[in-house]
Amino acid sequence: MTLCYALGLHLLAARYNQTDMSDTTVRDTVILGSGCAGLTAAIYAARANLKPLVLEGHEPGGQLSITTLVENFPGWPEGVQGPELIENMKKQATRFGAELRMAHLTSADLTRSPFELTIGKDIVQTRSLIIASGASARWLGLPSEQALIGFGVSSCATCDGFFASGKEIAVIGGGDSAMEEAIFLTRFATKVTIINRTENFRASRIMLERAIAHPQIEFLHNTVVEEVLGVEEKELKGLKLFNKKTGERWTLPVAFMFLGIGHIPNATMFKGQIDLDDDGYIKTEHNIFVTQMGVQLHGVYACGDVQDRRYRQAITAAGTGCMAALEVEKYLEEMGR
Ligand code: NDP
Repeated sequence: MTLCYALGLHLLAARYNQTDMSDTTVRDTVILGSGCAGLTAAIYAARANLKPLVLEGHEPGGQLSITTLVENFPGWPEGVQGPELIENMKKQATRFGAELRMAHLTSADLTRSPFELTIGKDIVQTRSLIIASGASARWLGLPSEQALIGFGVSSCATCDGFFASGKEIAVIGGGDSAMEEAIFLTRFATKVTIINRTENFRASRIMLERAIAHPQIEFLHNTVVEEVLGVEEKELKGLKLFNKKTGERWTLPVAFMFLGIGHIPNATMFKGQIDLDDDGYIKTEHNIFVTQMGVQLHGVYACGDVQDRRYRQAITAAGTGCMAALEVEKYLEEMGR
């Protein structure tokens, strides 16, 4: 242990013990987010008897709760439905004493010790914080698209697919999300057109090949959506498209548009307090240690998609969730708990 680090820990321990005596309601750890990363952290923290408080956030269960079959989570040879996996993780975490609360963080003050979290009207103090707030669906950003969310525009095929029964629809994107959504939506829609803005695909080969082989799926390459039609009628009527290569413009009559164009990390509430990269992902050392102007911020950890722009898998989210909880345990031990 370097002298600097040891001194830092000593000072922190002194501050920590001081506050601890005057405040008996200080939590050992709070976990932001209830996706795969947050719930794995909760299982480990709860088993370490830290009685973690889990704030479920805006999208309880995270991305797995709106996905269908997860085929690559080890231990499920036939695959497992995302919501089922999440439900089981919740049961596992609460069985060991985790407290799950349907709430989200309003703001956080990480300059205080213990850290102070504002949750609506409540203030929660905590000695450590695990940020597992994940990432939310990305939108095209067109005003007409925003106006028609819930009226034919959706970012959740699992939630809204049923409403597309017997209709022709479009899926935007060229990654695994778009392929998965398109294949899933063929259960309902008569025809699915995948609209990709380039001719390159980020999707894995197996997913892409499944989509290409599907008789109900068609592809449009080098094509972007310029306008979503039907705002006045409050019902999606079609998409105004533009082919960037040929310059052609035309209208595709579809009743639904599903977005599958990636996600935005949910970390804006920490801007200015911890280091974020240019796209808003939390910068971490060794995948979990959060920094503040390049220096490790003791007691704060990030895991899952909010800090992972590279792997973004359920299993890697679970892995970093586990790591974060183990580090919390170690940190609290070093602080004398
Ligand atoms: P990706 O980042 O992999 O792909 C996003 C796609 O959307 C790209 O084709 C991108 O195009 C396109 N895109 C981005 N912004 C726009 C825009 N404004 N307009 C039009 N197109 C746009 O995201 P995914 O959500 O597909 O996947 C994320 C991760 O999750 C990946 O690691 C993936 O493997 C994984 N995943 C796994 C699944 C499974 O195994 N069952 C299912 C779903 C996801 P461009 O390439 O031009 O930037």
